[in-house]
Amino acid sequence: TGTPVPATVAAGLPCATLDGRTVEHANLDHGASAPALTAVKQAVDTATRSYASVHRGKGHASQVSSRYYEAAREEVARFVGARPGDEVIFTRQTTDAMTLLAGALPEGTEVVVFDSEHHASLLPWPAGRTTRLPVPRSEDAAADALERALQARTDRPVLVVVTAASNVTGELWPVRRLADLAHAHGARIVVDAAQLAPHRAVDLTALGADYLAFSGHKVYAPYGTGVLVGRADWLDAAPPYLPGGGATAEVGPSGATWRTGAARHEGGSPNVLGAVALAAACATFRRHREAIEAHEAHLFDGLVDALEAIDGVRTYSIFSSAQPRVPVVTFTLDGLPADLVATALSREHGIGVRDGKFCAHPLVTELLQDQSEGGCAGPVDGTGAGTAVRVSLGLGNRPEHVTRLVAAIRELAGAGPRWEYARGADGTWQ
Ligand code: PMP
Repeated sequence: TGTPVPATVAAGLPCATLDGRTVEHANLDHGASAPALTAVKQAVDTATRSYASVHRGKGHASQVSSRYYEAAREEVARFVGARPGDEVIFTRQTTDAMTLLAGALPEGTEVVVFDSEHHASLLPWPAGRTTRLPVPRSEDAAADALERALQARTDRPVLVVVTAASNVTGELWPVRRLADLAHAHGARIVVDAAQLAPHRAVDLTALGADYLAFSGHKVYAPYGTGVLVGRADWLDAAPPYLPGGGATAEVGPSGATWRTGAARHEGGSPNVLGAVALAAACATFRRHREAIEAHEAHLFDGLVDALEAIDGVRTYSIFSSAQPRVPVVTFTLDGLPADLVATALSREHGIGVRDGKFCAHPLVTELLQDQSEGGCAGPVDGTGAGTAVRVSLGLGNRPEHVTRLVAAIRELAGAGPRWEYARGADGTWQ
């Protein structure tokens, strides 16, 4: 039955399958977005009782709301182990946080980034001053490539970008080792913790991160919340990310002076309820981290092996199948396009997974090159070609969801889909 998890999500969703059965929807797509925690809903409920904009009001509700907002910031700071001098800036999500940082780089900063990054962390950097390193196939290769890239850098500021846990394979990256390397060369490092934060403790000091970003909707809080945390000097010297109310110190006829601190980049009326919700998720995670990890380890234990044991299934790793990973696995099924596998899983078994390239095109292209002739390639017309299926587990899952998945994949690999599907004009399977 698994380990009891004190942190609970909303109850399961009923889901009809093609043959008319109603099953509980098995959401195996937590890596995309995770359902709200009950603690998050309660926190939002409480905070809506003092619904008012922050910082500018003397009214009681505004004062309470302001306190909630700053308490949320403190909770997030605790969640990531923020150091004195770090800023905690609320953003819309990881994409927004990375883009904010890209706009805050000192003049001439060079960026070094691995091709394995999610597009959010791969793309926002300055054209012409960004070095993209090929996907490294071992931790040593990652360190060697980074070392060489850093040796070749000039005396300008350098930012290294690395993801702590891959959204494609779940593999944990040797962040501390890469951070130490970066620092030995006088560079800074930003860590994309979007997939780490829902599964493992996040600690800026242990990671050696100068900056870190993650998204609320992946830690069981609502959409539209995220964080950039890190060293204040670059952020305080940068142009404001959202010039406007709240970010200004003084506005006169010839222009504006800007505040320092988080306010500099949080112009406009902030997402108070989002911040409160995110903080509630962070607090829940800090309190129940051990139980959450145990629950997920129990669910994930043996899943990769069980999939690999099915004839025609291939799972993918950047480094190796033995690399520690968060409960995420990407696979293909020989002879069946990934989008057909995902469609059949949903319609015939009530299982929700993701298929595609997971906003990590260079990485998925590299990984799927490994497959031998006759792999999942999908139809030659190109639709679905070069894509894979991703399963990502979380607090909304029970062991039955995982056993259902393995049985369904076994059936699909052996006998194919139960139903006839044809690709519609819009490219989807009907
Ligand atoms: N980085 C990683 C590793 C991710 O998995 C994601 C979300 N798939 C992102 C960044 C982007 O997150 P968001 O869409 O919330 O900005």
